[in-house]
Amino acid sequence: MSKNEQKLLIIPLGGIGEIGKNMTVVQYEKEILVIDAGLMFPEEEMLGIDMVIPDITYLVENKDLIKGIIITHGHEDHIGALPYVLQQINVPLYGTRLTMGLVEGKLKETKFKKNIATNVIKPPASVKIGTFTVDFFRVNHSIPDSIGVAIHTPLGTVCHTGDFKFDQTPVDGRIADLHKLAELGTRGVLVLLSDSTNAERQGYTMSEKVVGNTIEEIFSRAKGRIIVATFASNIHRIQQVFDAAFKFGRKVAVVGRSMVNVVNIALNLGYLSIPKDLLMELDDINKLSKEKVVIITTGSQGEPMSALTRMAMCEHKKVEIIPGDTVLIAATPIPGNEKFVARTIDHLFKQGAEVIYEAISGVHVSGHASQEELKLMLNLVKPKYFIPVHGEYRHLIHHANLAKEVGIPQENIFIAENGRVVEFTKDAARMAGKVTAGKVLVDGLGVGDVGNIVLRDRKQLAQDGILIVVVTIDKETAEVVAGPDIISRGFVYVRESEELMEQSREIVRQALRKCQEEEITEWSTIKSQVRDTLGKFLFEQTRRRPMILPIIMEV
Ligand SMILES: [Zn+2]
Ligand SMILES: [Zn+2]
Repeated sequence: MSKNEQKLLIIPLGGIGEIGKNMTVVQYEKEILVIDAGLMFPEEEMLGIDMVIPDITYLVENKDLIKGIIITHGHEDHIGALPYVLQQINVPLYGTRLTMGLVEGKLKETKFKKNIATNVIKPPASVKIGTFTVDFFRVNHSIPDSIGVAIHTPLGTVCHTGDFKFDQTPVDGRIADLHKLAELGTRGVLVLLSDSTNAERQGYTMSEKVVGNTIEEIFSRAKGRIIVATFASNIHRIQQVFDAAFKFGRKVAVVGRSMVNVVNIALNLGYLSIPKDLLMELDDINKLSKEKVVIITTGSQGEPMSALTRMAMCEHKKVEIIPGDTVLIAATPIPGNEKFVARTIDHLFKQGAEVIYEAISGVHVSGHASQEELKLMLNLVKPKYFIPVHGEYRHLIHHANLAKEVGIPQENIFIAENGRVVEFTKDAARMAGKVTAGKVLVDGLGVGDVGNIVLRDRKQLAQDGILIVVVTIDKETAEVVAGPDIISRGFVYVRESEELMEQSREIVRQALRKCQEEEITEWSTIKSQVRDTLGKFLFEQTRRRPMILPIIMEV
């Protein structure tokens, strides 16, 4: 095939116009590489849904073309969909040691059975995958061992930053590979896909070291116990808590399932370095005097079942908040979680703790690049084309504007959407069609079986409750022989609404009589008659629309 007809496609399947469920397809002719397979946490109106993952119809249809999945780092919005994706496409994984450790932990947790080939990458590294040569380079982020990739194809180089920031003084001493980025820029990059999460924020994102300084300062003042809540995956921050504990002669216990999990994985793989005897079991640390104790816990998002929330509500089996405790919430609430966090903070104060949180600067810094760093990335890589990724629509637009500022022509910037194909040929690029993309809702063990109808039902049940109408009818005469009985839940308090219930029964009787007179024998018609008349009556009386479930039995 001549070079003129060759095609390179970039297809985001998630992470565009949203924060979460990141997944990008890079396809050159008959070969595909996938970057990340993340989940998104459900929105408030998705009642009962545990998580949302990308629709991977396109990948399933092109199963045989896929050479592998590259994982940029171990956050849930990059690895969370893997147990579901790998069920349908069994392909090799590529990622750094910590990322692969977290992926393996995740697969084990979901009792994943198949064998998956995992390739551990040690950046800077260059790996041949199919026709692609892939350079893995280090970036800074709020989890160690994060990488970006440069995928070299016959039509040019595709560079994907992953989630990143530039931290000049990272906790592990490993700065982002600026040299590699500059080298890529010198050799020429066809297209850059870059993290847009913080594209609205001016200036530079502060170094994680800043949080370390704040932690030390808090440790130097605290008289009683210190309880620190942060993201389980923020191993650098956890390291800084251990360091401060060591410096001030305290011991540390770790609480909360995901925190214990991640700390164990990080310790085993050498991503946390902790002096001997610093880490203690919770039962043992409780025997020490208060000024010797540090507890690291989950719950920085006020999640109802998390350890910190349970402590705040006096529901934790082993840790009770007492006056003199200092509680440090070293995280900002993810949008949507503000209410939970605020409630937890209120309860902690009520128990007499001193609570240090978001409002005080320096307890949290972002893991994502701000505007000046985004421009630096663009200037280092100097791509011909630019696709902002990983962000809601406004973030993408802000990022596109930054790209224009540093000299990328408007027509070379693509604001994509999930499923949209960006096609590159030898001397052009354009938006070219769409593939299936969207949200797959996961509820417990069910993947994709909860659709809009089920969600609508859940919403109705949550808002206005349910009424079950039970009637027994004579098969021959269609005469009502028992009932109607009405059972309700979440609608009205029955004992105080006997009159309404009696009227409802009468309405049902009338509806049934009418059916009988009109010689309607179709069950579904009878049911919908009951539902409609009763629904109308109840709305008139209460302005509520409970779900009405008629059950008709024949004898
Ligand atoms: Zn991330
Ligand atoms: Zn992310």
